Amino acid sequence: MIKAFITRLRQGYKTIGFPRTAAAPPERFRGLPNVNNHACAGGDCAACIAVCPTKAVSLDKGLCIDLGACIFCGACAKACPQGAIRFTPNHVLSARARHDLLCGENSMPAVKALSKDMLRIFGRSLKLRQVSAGGCNACEADINVLGTIVYDLGRFGVQIVASPRHADGLLITGPVTKNMQVALLKTYEAVPDPKIVVAVGACAINGGPFVNCTQHLHGVTEILPVDLFIPGCPPHPLTILDGILRLLGKIK
Ligand code: SF4
Repeated sequence: MIKAFITRLRQGYKTIGFPRTAAAPPERFRGLPNVNNHACAGGDCAACIAVCPTKAVSLDKGLCIDLGACIFCGACAKACPQGAIRFTPNHVLSARARHDLLCGENSMPAVKALSKDMLRIFGRSLKLRQVSAGGCNACEADINVLGTIVYDLGRFGVQIVASPRHADGLLITGPVTKNMQVALLKTYEAVPDPKIVVAVGACAINGGPFVNCTQHLHGVTEILPVDLFIPGCPPHPLTILDGILRLLGKIK
């Protein structure tokens, strides 16, 4: 018993201070892209468009990256001879509306908190049912990490539950394969109103790396209303936590 106490004392307090203290993503983390329109040579070059595996880059209205489609592979930044794209370690990537994920030189995603009425219901206790709608398990793994001692999602009153009937909303991963479509709709119907839907990862938002596949939908929005989009492939646990906390008004 004494040994257990000594080990516990040696280990100390493992939970991160975020959001009280600044987030510290790993050194190699690719977060919010910094897009420099002035440096971009536009359609004369288009090297970024040629290398992007998910068609996330566009030049129609200036250089723009769709964070909902981007898998953060970094190929566009490497391919650009002018260095017009640079990935920063900023983990704040989520948005309430799909079009807010379009990241140009002067635009970046932002999350508006739920309405006052919804916050009265969910602000202090939010139970979410996770549905893997054809995901590769990477997003699911990073959602699991949120339950560990390091992130301790429960300290914010947010919990992943086993049954949709006990849930306030769905946390959906994967591009929604045709085989999962009915199961997802039934799970959604089983959640009592009012409810929220969170799309986690490039697949759930836009189809991700499977964007050209015909055996799935291109994200959750094709069949369900989405309240929060969390980009990434997979999103870092800090990005998921940040998005949920902003939705609950715990980060302004
Ligand atoms: S980082 Fe995103 S935008 Fe750039 S090439 Fe990869 S998927 Fe496309």
